[in-house]
Amino acid sequence: MTQETIEFQAEVAKVLDIVIHSLYSDKEIFLRELISNGADACEKLRYAGLTHPEWTAKAGALRLTITPDKKAGTLTITDNGIGMNHDDLVNHLGTIARSGSAEFFKSLSGDKQKDMALIGQFGVGFYASFMVADKVQVRTRKAGEEQGWLWQSNGAGSYTIESDDSAPVGTSVILHLKKDESEFLDAFRLRHLIKQYSDFVPFPIYLTEDKKEEKINAGSALWMRPKSEIDQTQYKDFYQSVSHAFDTPWETLHLHVEGVIDYTALMFIPTEAPHTLFQPDKPTNVSLYVNQVFISNDIPDIMPYWLRFMTGVIDTKDLPLNVSREMLQQTPVLTKIKQGLVKKILSALNKRAEKSEEYQTFWKSFGVVLKEGLYEPSENREEIAKLCRFYSTNGDDLTSLADYVLRMKPEQKNIYYLTGSHLESLRSSPQLEGLKARGIEVLLLTDPVDEFWTNTYPEFDGHKFIPVQQAGDELEKIKPVEAKGDALSKDKADKLLAHIKSVLGDKVKEVKLTERLTDSAVSLITGAGQMSLHLERLMRAHGQKTAFESTRILQINPRHPLIHKLADLTGEDSDNIIHLLYDQALLAEGENLPNPSDFNRRLIQLMMK
Ligand code: ADP
Ligand code: MG
Repeated sequence: MTQETIEFQAEVAKVLDIVIHSLYSDKEIFLRELISNGADACEKLRYAGLTHPEWTAKAGALRLTITPDKKAGTLTITDNGIGMNHDDLVNHLGTIARSGSAEFFKSLSGDKQKDMALIGQFGVGFYASFMVADKVQVRTRKAGEEQGWLWQSNGAGSYTIESDDSAPVGTSVILHLKKDESEFLDAFRLRHLIKQYSDFVPFPIYLTEDKKEEKINAGSALWMRPKSEIDQTQYKDFYQSVSHAFDTPWETLHLHVEGVIDYTALMFIPTEAPHTLFQPDKPTNVSLYVNQVFISNDIPDIMPYWLRFMTGVIDTKDLPLNVSREMLQQTPVLTKIKQGLVKKILSALNKRAEKSEEYQTFWKSFGVVLKEGLYEPSENREEIAKLCRFYSTNGDDLTSLADYVLRMKPEQKNIYYLTGSHLESLRSSPQLEGLKARGIEVLLLTDPVDEFWTNTYPEFDGHKFIPVQQAGDELEKIKPVEAKGDALSKDKADKLLAHIKSVLGDKVKEVKLTERLTDSAVSLITGAGQMSLHLERLMRAHGQKTAFESTRILQINPRHPLIHKLADLTGEDSDNIIHLLYDQALLAEGENLPNPSDFNRRLIQLMMK
């Protein structure tokens, strides 16, 4: 077969362009990426060998070899793993299969260190080769197939594929190093890099120099060793190599569990949230091993979604090696392991939560994910609620629900909250006035997920979650610390409410008096059981429109001097003020004015007087 030239998929071409032209710090990670691919290929062959023992028999001991050639200026990374056929080459080295690449571009920050970390996280690992090489060749043959292949590219736009009868089973990636990258031909430097990044790769990695072979990595499964033999640096290095991250783990859980089911787990909570946290099709960072044989790092639900930031390894003897994907979905073994692990993770979090400063680091990275666990009933819901932290009107720090409950007024039954997009605007929201005046604390919730769990979470320690807009009944019972002015007489109030309603028409469903305001004259809310204004805005931002638009209630503060004046006014002035008050209530809620020029006209008219 003659040589074929094929264009890279557009996304790949873009990734390559970024890799080649704009990112040049930490170039050395290309080696980690290629070694990780070689080790994956060995793991895949070992697994395939369960059904095709002749393949593994032929391959012999699975291994990786790193060969620098100073004369030729090449660095070759060879594995005797599963290999690739023609279609694999096109699909895996010419295409980015996952939708992740779009996310990848969005996440680029311009900060080189962060952008490099992204390369690993988004699985564009192979392309890192082009950071150090101006030409890359891949010689490969797939296990069980006759035909070998040579793939070549200089990273610019296209690649070629031709048959190569001499290629053995497995893969060699031959990097023709750029002129100024000769440091990667230096055995000393290579030895150091392999140790640093790939020490725990479970296959031996050999460095070949002048025909001499030297095994570099420790190569054993770190998680199987007793805890007492492992130091923090080893844990950190292992974490970085399994998660492709650059940070230090915030928490390390190393468990050897013996009981109904035996398993070992080495799990980490990262310090920094990876950019893929909200990418639904991102495979998990939790790998399942059976007796130290890699099975999969892509098992759905291996962790609950509200713990999806966990990374690490689970190893058990209680599953058969040839466990199928279908079986993994059903087996009670995995369910039991998961249940046990989740309990351990929650209790580790609970312990760390005692040190509030340290715990903040975790909460800022992953609180928003953990809170997703409040939404649905589960055996862990109570425990999750205890671990949650919120801003509130009580000072600037985060508070737990337990502490909130301790501070509740004696007559107070409910836990109050206010949702919105920005903490600062929540702090100054008129909705809080009446509660502040009564010394009632309010949780200030700014994550979209808060709109959801607050509606489904039944109660904490016997206290229901109530949005401040619906604080009505209880407020009547609790006296404000200082009362402000006299209320409008019943007669005047009734007239005024009817008048306002007639002026505003369909803009509001209802006009009502409220004791919830002190400094403001009016405020807008939605009725009980209706979507809050903030949630409406979130839905609109996601393109979901009018069907959800709820009906608004304008609340009037009967003690406010402006309302007293308004009750005595008639005619155009009164109409203008009513419209302006309504618009200003919209603004206070973070809404846009539907008709700004109307607003301006009325304002000018009033100012002229
Ligand atoms: P990832 O490893 O995250 O999938 P990479 O860019 O590193 O992303 O590799 C892309 C794909 O190319 C791999 O998933 C694998 O299918 C294939 N591949 C890369 N290197 C090898 C190799 N040495 N042997 C077999 N397949 C490989
Ligand atoms: Mg890879």
